[in-house]
Amino acid sequence: MFKKICLLIVVVGMFSCNQVPNTEKTEAEVAPEPFKYWAWMGSSADRADSLYIDQFEQLKAGGIDAVLINTNTDTTLLSRLTPMALDAGLEVHAWIMAMNRPGDTVALKHPEWYAVSREGKSCFDTRPYVDYYQWMCPTRAESREHVLSLTEDLAKVDGITSVHLDYIRYSDIFLPIGLLPKYDLVQEEELPEFDFCYCEVCVSAFEKEHHKSPLVLKDPALDLEWKQFRLNRIKSVVDEAYERVHAQGKILTAAVFPYPEMADHMVRQRWDKWKIDAVLPMVYHNFYNEEIDWIGYATGQGVKDLETKNTQLHTGLFIPSLSPEELRMAVLEAKDHGAKGVALFDAGALKPAHLEVISELKRSEQE
Ligand SMILES: [Zn+2]
Repeated sequence: MFKKICLLIVVVGMFSCNQVPNTEKTEAEVAPEPFKYWAWMGSSADRADSLYIDQFEQLKAGGIDAVLINTNTDTTLLSRLTPMALDAGLEVHAWIMAMNRPGDTVALKHPEWYAVSREGKSCFDTRPYVDYYQWMCPTRAESREHVLSLTEDLAKVDGITSVHLDYIRYSDIFLPIGLLPKYDLVQEEELPEFDFCYCEVCVSAFEKEHHKSPLVLKDPALDLEWKQFRLNRIKSVVDEAYERVHAQGKILTAAVFPYPEMADHMVRQRWDKWKIDAVLPMVYHNFYNEEIDWIGYATGQGVKDLETKNTQLHTGLFIPSLSPEELRMAVLEAKDHGAKGVALFDAGALKPAHLEVISELKRSEQE
């Protein structure tokens, strides 16, 4: 019964939106884009074409419209996979781990490119939380250029729709509350070992602008210029990536934290200020010990914050924590709060029963 009511509300909602008279736009312009289903997926050069073809066909048959493929910036692999995904009828997005670049063989030759903590330790050899946290400094010209040129190379691959920035932020100053027990951590304030970037380039750029050093601030968490400086450093990378990707005829998308204020607080990421075509906030309720309705809350907050921008929002959902029935509820929460689609993490976690729910939802949208 509950399902039916939800579906009815959505259908009625869409219908009434279409009925609003708009004399200034043509019918084609007001026709809403269909709600979109994306899936993030990893890849490996060793895996056979036939396995990819099967996977792409299964995803398409299950209602997925777009895949975000992580090839570890391997453009040869991306060029091999893209035509197969396109043949299956999927849109392709080139997923890059942007500021966090684990095992990057070029970057590893330049220890000075890595972000430095308030303790003075570099991510080059002292990694916060996990060994794969190997963050680049967003200010130093060479590390910034490295990330941007990798982004540009991906944008040159024929057939892709967007370059999709992931880890486009600083390392977590606060971990999601649901993950703290796993790391046996208590985080009630900004701890120096998780606070970045205090490298010489960041410190001197900030000093030049504000005539004070972040190294001598009594409580850096309370200094708003220092916070804003770092938000701006990430914004600057995104805005430049936007120009370079658009120059290749592609668009820019990103995986981001649940909503702007939360992203700002946890990872110094203020995505409602960015020049970007679409954001896919990772609204992973279980990471924050929240319930399914929080997916609607976080989606609605982000949608409101983007009201005056040309940035679409598609809600990211964490499939391992969603039963097929919960997935249905989560999709409806996202849709009811203004998302243009949902992105599912990840393709490998999608069970046939999840895909059945998506196919069913799509059928009901088309009725
Ligand atoms: Zn730095």
